[in-house]
Amino acid sequence: MTPFSFERAEKASASAGVRYLGGGTNLIDLMKLEIERPERLVDVSRLPGDIRESDGAILIGASVTNAALSADPLIRERYAMLSTALLSGATQQLRNKATTGGNFLQRTRCHYFYDTARACNKREPGSGCDALDGHNRFHAILGASEHCIAVHPSDMAVAMAALDAEVRTITADGEGRTIPATDLLRLPGDAPERDHVLDDGELIVEVRLPANPPARQLYRKVRDRASYAFAVVSIAVALDVEDNVMKNVRIALGGVAHKPWRADKAERALEGAFVDASVFAQAADAELQDAVGRGDNDFKIPLVRRLIITALRDVTDLSKEHSA
Ligand code: SF4
Repeated sequence: MTPFSFERAEKASASAGVRYLGGGTNLIDLMKLEIERPERLVDVSRLPGDIRESDGAILIGASVTNAALSADPLIRERYAMLSTALLSGATQQLRNKATTGGNFLQRTRCHYFYDTARACNKREPGSGCDALDGHNRFHAILGASEHCIAVHPSDMAVAMAALDAEVRTITADGEGRTIPATDLLRLPGDAPERDHVLDDGELIVEVRLPANPPARQLYRKVRDRASYAFAVVSIAVALDVEDNVMKNVRIALGGVAHKPWRADKAERALEGAFVDASVFAQAADAELQDAVGRGDNDFKIPLVRRLIITALRDVTDLSKEHSA
């Protein structure tokens, strides 16, 4: 491991040139592999952080652990799919360590990224991407580039994207800003080494969940084994149904792109439509019209189509005998 300085933050402040340590469940592994080589590490995991209500919205401190967030009564009652998403990730031991801020900023689990003998533009810009013609079963089908086809591994961030969460930060110049969770992480484009839009030293301090989320919520994860596995694909759906008409439809997909993929084409196809299996299929097809497989991951396209349809069927209580 490359030598680094270590300090524990006494209060939330941002400084250029530092890396922040939350639970360390990903960053420490990357440092051991020398894929991450911070010179100055600041532990922010013990900064005060809680979960509180403000004008109906929920404010979550960045240091709140995934375990605490998933178990919070307010989250379980009003944002149930966020609790489900958190509980589907990792293990209880890891959820006890992983933080809300750190979960957003965890890095891809593309195996070529972790194998320093292989070409990876994310690890070493300009070196190439061995996943393009390699083992790419877990890789992206939406929003990828010829420079990187990695996916973001978080479950939590998918639910946050569908719930219109906002991330609040402080920057190294002492200012702060609010970033929609859907905009925090980036698509790879020609700079896959940049996972997110945060500036040097910018620190996530809080996440805000808006008041009055849709009443019907569902998070579903398809994975290779029942626990301790990243999503092959996943979906977060929130909507209301009034007089058999869908409203406030919000859908995000996981395991399909470099960031949680807000399915806005599907949302537009569903908003204001009657609950109907044929509409679900049209919405799935609209969202996937630009999907591209890379060989091993071709199966994800029909899998995501079925996932969207069955998730919508279940969240709207449309009986199976009426589905297409
Ligand atoms: Fe690296 Fe991205 Fe290619 Fe994986 S997909 S090898 S992370 S550039």
